[in-house]
Amino acid sequence: MDASLPIHRIRDGIVGALITGNRLVVVAPTGSGKTTQVPQMVLDAGLAGQDRIVILQPRRVAARTVAARVAWERKGRLGGEVGYQVRFEDHTSLGTRICFITEGILLRWLQEDPELRGIRVLIFDEFHERNLLSDVALALAREIQRVHRPDLKIVVMSATLDAEPVAAYLDNCPVLQSECSMFPVEVRYPEHGDRRPITEQAADAVETILQSGEAGDILVFMPGMGEIQSTLNALRTLRAPERLALIPLHGELPPEEQDRAFQPHPGRKIVVATNVAETSVTIDGIRHVVDSGLARIARYDAERGIGTLGIEEISRASADQRKGRAGRTAPGTCHRLWTESGHLNRPERHTPEIQRSDLAEVVLLLHSLGIRNAAAFDWLDKPDPQAVERAEILLRTLGALQPRAPQQAPQGNDSSAGRTIGGASDDHAAAPSARAHDDLTPVGRRMLRLPMHPRFARMLVEASRHQCVPAAAMCAALVSGRDLMMRLGRDDKSTAGARELFEGSAQSDFHTLMRACQFAKNRGYSVEACRRYGINARAAREVEQTFQQFLQVARREGLLNSSTPEVEPAADEGDALLRSIMTGFIDQLCVRRDQGTLECHLTGARTGTLMRESVVQNSPLFVAASIREVPSRGRGTITLLGLASHVSREWILETFPDRLHTTLEHLFDRGHRRVAALKVERFEDLIMAHEHQREPDPAAAGHCLADAWNRGWFELPKFDHDIRQFIARCHLVAAAMPDIEFPRFDRARLVDCLGRAFAGLTLAKEAQAVPLREAVIGELAPEQREWLDELAPRSIPWPDDRKVKLLFPEPTGEEEDGPAEPEAQVKLHECFSLRSHPVICEGRVPVRLWLCAPDGKRLDSTTDWPVFRKTQYPRLKSTLLKKYPGVGWL
Ligand code: ADP
Ligand code: MG
Repeated sequence: MDASLPIHRIRDGIVGALITGNRLVVVAPTGSGKTTQVPQMVLDAGLAGQDRIVILQPRRVAARTVAARVAWERKGRLGGEVGYQVRFEDHTSLGTRICFITEGILLRWLQEDPELRGIRVLIFDEFHERNLLSDVALALAREIQRVHRPDLKIVVMSATLDAEPVAAYLDNCPVLQSECSMFPVEVRYPEHGDRRPITEQAADAVETILQSGEAGDILVFMPGMGEIQSTLNALRTLRAPERLALIPLHGELPPEEQDRAFQPHPGRKIVVATNVAETSVTIDGIRHVVDSGLARIARYDAERGIGTLGIEEISRASADQRKGRAGRTAPGTCHRLWTESGHLNRPERHTPEIQRSDLAEVVLLLHSLGIRNAAAFDWLDKPDPQAVERAEILLRTLGALQPRAPQQAPQGNDSSAGRTIGGASDDHAAAPSARAHDDLTPVGRRMLRLPMHPRFARMLVEASRHQCVPAAAMCAALVSGRDLMMRLGRDDKSTAGARELFEGSAQSDFHTLMRACQFAKNRGYSVEACRRYGINARAAREVEQTFQQFLQVARREGLLNSSTPEVEPAADEGDALLRSIMTGFIDQLCVRRDQGTLECHLTGARTGTLMRESVVQNSPLFVAASIREVPSRGRGTITLLGLASHVSREWILETFPDRLHTTLEHLFDRGHRRVAALKVERFEDLIMAHEHQREPDPAAAGHCLADAWNRGWFELPKFDHDIRQFIARCHLVAAAMPDIEFPRFDRARLVDCLGRAFAGLTLAKEAQAVPLREAVIGELAPEQREWLDELAPRSIPWPDDRKVKLLFPEPTGEEEDGPAEPEAQVKLHECFSLRSHPVICEGRVPVRLWLCAPDGKRLDSTTDWPVFRKTQYPRLKSTLLKKYPGVGWL
C-alpha cells in the first residue's frame, strides 16, 4: 500500500461508512489512489469477510495493469490474492480476494448466479464515464442488494462525477470527497485549424515540446490503435536532441507491451495512448499532454442497424481530464490540436451511453435475467423508450424473443425464466404497460453466450448449423468495421476495374468484400497495393482483428466443431453462408419490385433502391446489411440498400416459419371491373410473392364486389328507391327507439348483406343483374318487418280515407343528431280537418308536413300543425284568400 496517496486521508470515512452502511460514493481526482488503494483498505479492514472484493473497470487494459500494480504493492503474484478477469483472460484463483474485472464479465457471472454469491463488495470504478454496461450493472446490483443480498456492499468511485444523482439513486447514501492538490497546467491551442492528418500534427506538437527544452515525459492521446501506430511512425522520423522511448498503450497489445508504459526507461518517455490514460490508469512522470481531442465513442448506427464505435470529438470535461494528467507531479503543459474557438463549440460533457447507444445486446441480457421490460426498469438515467422498442423489435425478428400471449402472463413469479433477479422488479416493471412481455427463445439463449451484437450472434448460431462459422464471423467483422472499399468517384475507372477482380459471384456483396480482404492480407496490408485496388488497408486490418475475436468467442463457445475448417474464411461457402447472413439481417429483407428495376420494398412499409455497385442484380429477394438515407435531387432523400445478399424463399420458410403468412386475397380490378383472387405470401408485412388464383373464394369474391360498389367503383341499378327507403326506415327506427334494439342498418351491414347476395360472382356486370330487394329485406326477421311497418309505415292515413306517402331521408353516415323526420306533401286546406299532427314511432317522431297551395305550390313546412295554424297561418290567409278564392280558408 502506498499510504502517501491522498485517498488515505479519507480512509477512516470509507471504512466507517461501509461498516455502518452498505452503499457509498467516493469522489476523488484521478491519481489520488481510488482504484489501487480503496480495494486494499476494504480488504485490510476485514469488510469482505472471507468473500471477494470485485472492482468493475470499463477497460481491459486498466483491469490488467491496475491488478498488476496492486499485486505488486501487496508483494504477491498476479492471480493470487489479487487477480483480474477480462474477456479473453482469467487470472484469478480460489484464493483471489481482490478481483478487477470488466463490466461484461460481471454480466456473464450474473447469468450463472443471479445472486452473486461469494462477492461481498462490488466497486464501480470510473463511474463518471457512464458506460452502458456500468449503468446496467449498477441497476442490477442495486436490485440484487434490495431483493436477495442485503449484505452486499456497493461502492461507486469517480473522478469528476457530480455525485448527487448517484447518491440519491442509491437511497441517499453517503458521499465522501477527497481533495488532491494539482499543479497548474498551461493549455496551448493552435492559432488556425490544420488539415493535415491528426497523427502528423501530434508529432509536430511533440517536436515543439522537445525543442523547447522543457523536461518531463509526454503523453499523447489518440482515438485508436491505428492512429497510435501512425503517430509512432511519425515520431520515429523526428530528429530528437535526446534519447526517446516511444511506447504505445491500448487494449490490443499483449500484456508485456502494456506494462512498458509504466516502467522506467532510459531517456524521455513518449506514451501514445487511447483514452485509457484519460482517467483509468496513471503513468508517473508525465509533464506534457498532446491531445488529438478525439476518441472512439459508442453510438447507434442506423445505417447498419448496430452499435458502432465511431471516432468523435471528446467533450470539454474529457479534455480537462486529459489536461490534468500533465500536472500531477509538477507544473505542465497541454497541447490541444484544435482551436480555442473550436473548444467552446464542444459539448460540455457526453450524454450517458445508455441514452445514445444501441440497446439490443443489453435488452437481450436483461431478458435472460428475468427483466422483461427494460424501458420501465429503475435506471439511473432512463434509456430512450424508442431505442428500447427498436431493440425489442429486432430481437423478436431475429427470433431471440417471442411475444407471449397476454392471458399467459404470469401473475407473480415466473417459473419459466428460472432464477431471476427481479421477481419484484418485473412486477413494478409490468405496471405501466399492458403489453405482454416477451420470452427468451432457445435461439435467444444460445445468442446470449456470444458477447457481440445480437445480429452477429444470430448469424453465428445459424452458421454453426451449416458449418460455416469462420465465413460468417468474417461477414460480421465486415459489417462492424469501417468502409473497406473506398467509395468510388465518377471517374474512378481504374479502381472500378480493379474492383471487378473481386466480384466472383452474383450472390452476395459479402463475397466481394471477403475476396478484397483476402487480397489485402496477402499483400501484408500494404497501403499502396491496397489503394490501387480501392481497398482501405487499415480497415482491412481491423476487419481481420475483429474476425479473429469473433472466431475466438465462437471457439470458446463450441460453435466450431472439428469438422469446421478453422483456417481461412472461404468466400464460396454456397448457401450455408448466405443463409447465415440472412438470419442476421432478416429485418432488412428486400423484395425487388420487378426485374430490371433497382427499386425494392422492405419490411415496415419501407422502400429503397439497391446500390448500382451491388453484384446482387438478379435476385428478386435479398437482405441488405446496410441501409443509408442519402439526399437526392428533387426527391428529398432516397434510401440506398447496400451490402446485399441473396435469399431464397425456402430458407425463410425453413428458418422463420412463423413469420410467413399466406392469405388468399380478393381485389377488385377496376380496369376489368372484376374480382381478382390472389394468393399473397408475406414476411411480416412485406409481400414476398403473389399468384393469381383461378378459383376465388365465393364469399370473399362477393364481399369484394359489394365493397367495390360501396367505394363507388360501379353502380347497382337494382339498388333502387324502395330498397333505399327500406334502409332509411330501419335507420330511423333504430335511432328513435333505442329501447327495442332494432338492427341498425349501417354501411358495413349493408356491404355484408350485398356481399352475400353476390356470393360466387366475380364480374360487376353479374352483380348488377342480381335482384336485391329480397336480400336486403331478408336481413330482418319477419316480426321485425312487422314492427317496421307499424313504427315507420310507408304512408299515413289522411282524411277522406286517403293515404299520404312518407319519404324517409336516406342516411348519409354523417348525421350527428340521428336521422331527420320523414316528410309528406299535403294540401294546406286539407289539414283543417286534422285533429292532431301525424306522428310515427309510437309518437316519438313527427312527420314533416310540406304544406302546398291547391295548385301544388309549396308554401311552408311544419312538424306541429296546431301551432302552425295558430301562429303562421293567419299571416298567409289573406294572400291565399285573394289567390284561391274558391277554397274554404277557415
Ligand atoms: P485513481 O484511481 O484515483 O486515479 P490510482 O489508484 O489508479 O488512482 O493511482 C494512484 C497512484 O498509484 C498513481 O498516482 C500512481 O502514482 C500509482 N500507480 C498506479 N498504477 C501504477 C502503475 N501501474 N505503475 C506505477 N505506479 C502506479
Ligand atoms: Mg482509477
